Order: sequence, then C-alpha cells, then structure tokens
Amino acid sequence: MKDQASKPHFETSAIRTQQDRSQFLEHSTPIYLTSSFVFEDAEDMRTSFAEEKERNIYSRFTNPNTSEFVDKVCEMEGAEAGYAFATGMSAVFSTLAALLNSGDHVLSARSIFGSTFTLMTKFLPKWNISTTFFNSNDLDQLESLVQSNTKIIYAESPTNPGVDILDLQRLGDFAKKHELLLVIDNCFATPYLQQPIQFGADLVIHSATKLMDGQGRVLGGITVGNAALIREIYLFSRNTGPALAPFNAWVLSKSLETLAVRVDKHCENALKVAQFLEKQLAVDWVKYPFLPSHPHYEIAKKQMKAGGNIIAFQVKGGVKAGEAFLNALQLCSLSANLGDTKTIVTHPASTTHSKLPEKDRLAVGISDGLVRVSVGLEHYKDIINDLNQALQKIEM
Ligand SMILES: *Cc1c(COP(=O)(O)O)cnc(C)c1O
Repeated sequence: MKDQASKPHFETSAIRTQQDRSQFLEHSTPIYLTSSFVFEDAEDMRTSFAEEKERNIYSRFTNPNTSEFVDKVCEMEGAEAGYAFATGMSAVFSTLAALLNSGDHVLSARSIFGSTFTLMTKFLPKWNISTTFFNSNDLDQLESLVQSNTKIIYAESPTNPGVDILDLQRLGDFAKKHELLLVIDNCFATPYLQQPIQFGADLVIHSATKLMDGQGRVLGGITVGNAALIREIYLFSRNTGPALAPFNAWVLSKSLETLAVRVDKHCENALKVAQFLEKQLAVDWVKYPFLPSHPHYEIAKKQMKAGGNIIAFQVKGGVKAGEAFLNALQLCSLSANLGDTKTIVTHPASTTHSKLPEKDRLAVGISDGLVRVSVGLEHYKDIINDLNQALQKIEM
C-alpha cells in the first residue's frame, strides 16, 4: 500500500493519471486511432507476444487510450487492474462468461439492470449456468439460497429503477464467509460516491455510458478489481473481441477529469428535487437515498458520499396519471439514458417494464405510478418548475 499522505486525492488522479507522452510532449492525451503497433525486430515481436514485457500489440488487446481510461478507474475504485469494454453490457457478459463454468450457480439480486436479468435468465442457462434471485430488501434470505455450486454473488446499489440500497459490507462479509466472488455493478453510484472494493467486492462493473461519460455521447463499459480475476477476463476478452474503441476511451478518460464536480452538482440538484417532490400532493411517496424517509437512509449514509442523481417517486392515479405527467413535461427529456447533463424522466410501467406481467412488475417495486428521474445539471429551479407544472396536469 502506498503511503496515504503521498497518495493523490480522487480529483487529482482523475486528472493526472495518464500514459507516457509521445515524442510531441502533448499536454492533453491524443487519440491513438491505430489498430496495431509496430515491432523493432523479430526479437521484440517474440518477447511481446510471449508477454515478457508490457506493451501494446493490437487494439483488441490494449491501446494507450483504453489503458489510460482503465488506469484512472482503477485509481478511483482502489482496484489492482481492469479491462475496458464497448458497452456496459459487454462488461457484464464478458465478466460472467470469463469466470463461470458449466454447472456453476449465480446468486443475484432481483433488482438489477434489465439486460443483465435477461442475460441470467435467457442466455446463461444455454451454458448450464443457473441463477437464483434474492430480494434486494431482504439479505436475511441469502444463507438459505447459497448452493454448493454457487460461485458469484451479484448486485447493484442503488438499484434501478426502485433506488433501493443494499448493505455492501453485509454482502462483502457474506461472500467472504462462503468463499464466493462478489461482483458489484456500481454504475448508479460511480466510484466518486462509493467504492465497493472497500466493502469486500472482488470485481466492480460500470456502464461508462451513464455518469462516467455524463454527457450522453458514447457507450462504454469497464470491469476492475482483483488482478488474477481481471487476467481471466482479459484473456477471454482478448480472444472474443468486446474491446472499447480508442475514440470512445479518449472521450471517457476526458470525462473522468470532471466526474467529481459533475457528480457533486448532480447530487446537489437531485436532493433539492427530491425535497420538492416530497411536499407535493400529487405524489404518494419519494425514494432518494439521502432523504431521511428512505428505508435504507442509514446504510446509504454509511456507504455513499452523497445520494446520486436518480430519484424514484409515485404519482397518484396509476398508469394514466404517469403517462399524463410525462406528456406534460416541457424541459425534461423522455429518453432511455440516465446520468446525462440533461434531466431525463421515464415511466417504467408503460415503457421498459411494460412486458412484465403486473405481478412480477409489482414484485420488483415497479408500481403503475412509478416515475424515475435522472436529475441533470440544468439549474435546479428550472427542473423543479417543469416537474411542478406537469404535476398540476394530473387529474386527481
Ligand atoms: C445502462 C446500464 C447497464 C448497461 O450499460 P450499457 O452501456 O447500456 O450497455 C448496466 N448496468 C446498469 C446499472 C446500467 O444502468
């Protein structure tokens, strides 16, 4: 471990972590749009392929831009190593596919990103990998669900779209006790608000598409954590090809330089919007991790620096009221993304989760009137004014 006093702070490593400069001594890292790299001679080529030294060979393996992005996220998460992917889902898939064998079992929180759920229920079974889901609000269940073939415990916190908080320390202790790998999708929190490795996570996954880019421009994903596990993931990925493109890596690496200031402002705006919503007559309830009314407020305070930018709330009047509310919005966007500078509002019951039978939808906390807001960086008064005028349009 490095001496604490000499270790740069989060914001500093986000800005100062970079690859060696080229012969031109550029200040800002250039984009290395090259598919391959040249060798000095046959001996250089042989030792490079034998991995006797660390160097770039081919951009499916490594590239200076993806390496810079990976190094930054490793610094931020306190991780030993990482690998960057084209999307968050390729990070999730490659991580699970690299580490699981036929016959293995995954214990996963039920409240996870939709495509991750589909991966576990529709595709992993093709390779004889099974998953049992636990209720994110009931970690007492875990002991009874673990099997002799369980290898990975998988979760997200805060969850989507319910904004529940899972106690990461409890998950870390549980994983250790049963010798399971703990994999946390840390997308909603970002490493600025929460570092799951501190609580015992072996691997941390991000969709960099969300707050890491934060400006709605590029897709990307990353997995960081234990070096031996990352080595497995690297070997799988180097041979299957989900690599992040150098241009997108460059965008993401630049974005990380402003992650702390952006996320601070996102959280400040979100708390103000959540406090506003809590006072509205047309709103049944509001869930935001840093509101004292949140059922897991104490855990959120313990493991997060601030509450994040996602708010869940329920409008009175069910699906119709939810749709009427969305239709009345003028500033906020209706869009599938989140973690953008622009505030985005979604109504899961009529969109992302409309195909789920009502019973299953309710079981994961998606009520008819549930609205999810990804609070952006506009002035908070303009966001509140827009939500306010749209709430007035709901017939109660
Ligand atoms: C968006 C998202 C993903 C998937 O990321 P993509 O970059 O869209 O592939 C995974 N997990 C969470 C929590 C997400 O929000």
